[in-house]
Amino acid sequence: MTVWLKSAISDFDVSSAIEEVGYIDWGTNHHIFAGDIVYIYMGRPTQKISYKTECVKDDLTEKELTDYSQFYRVPLSSSAVSNRVSKKYIRLKPLINLESCLGEELSLNELVAKGMAKSYVRDTRKLENKPDLLKYIYEVEEKLEMDSIDSLVPKGTPTTVAERIVKTRVGQGLFKQKLLLESQECCICGLTDMSLLIASHIKPWKDCTSNERLDKHNGLLLCPAHDALFDKGYITFNNNGKVVISSRLDETTKRLMNIESSSKIKLSKNNKKYMAFHRSKIFK
Ligand SMILES: [Zn+2]
Repeated sequence: MTVWLKSAISDFDVSSAIEEVGYIDWGTNHHIFAGDIVYIYMGRPTQKISYKTECVKDDLTEKELTDYSQFYRVPLSSSAVSNRVSKKYIRLKPLINLESCLGEELSLNELVAKGMAKSYVRDTRKLENKPDLLKYIYEVEEKLEMDSIDSLVPKGTPTTVAERIVKTRVGQGLFKQKLLLESQECCICGLTDMSLLIASHIKPWKDCTSNERLDKHNGLLLCPAHDALFDKGYITFNNNGKVVISSRLDETTKRLMNIESSSKIKLSKNNKKYMAFHRSKIFK
């Protein structure tokens, strides 16, 4: 998976197009593939990174392209026409609208003030080549994510309910994206279907400080079966990354859940403190 920043043509009303059509079809000469994350920067008058989207198709034919001509503020310009000779066409599905809720954050003024842009943002770029900018976008997005979780999980929500909400929200959002940038498979069995992979907290959400909650080192990418075993404390890992299996798990379950005593995962130095917590508090 790759994370991109793509600039929209000034006269194209991205917001209305997304609102009415539900997605954006775009031509590109870059190697953007299904599963990639694409942040959209909108030109005048918005001048801001306004949407986080996911590329859901990377092989649209010209026939499949949606007609967006009504969303151009001025009649199709030459730049729009040149868009028509792109090497390929992609479909972007919005994940988060960053435009309305963040004040000046992610605006061109802020990007310039932070030294992350000159007087404009143009074209398409890989954000892994712009680590400062990616970090800034993540920080803003984290704030947004924490706010939305706080509103979903008001104080007093039973812990089990809160954990479930967090698992589906955070486990599928930015936290998962950070883990996917490092690896794209279940760290135990190697399953690679991104839609099935779960970003599992090593130290559970309810026990974390706010920094620990979205710290990628507190996460393992797991398939649903191995997430369930890890989450419920039937398996954990020692400091060398070797699996430790609970005596409560019988042989048949072990076989059916595809877990072997020889399994080993890679643990970074930063993973280890979280895993120590999991061993002592979660493992049964
Ligand atoms: Zn697995």
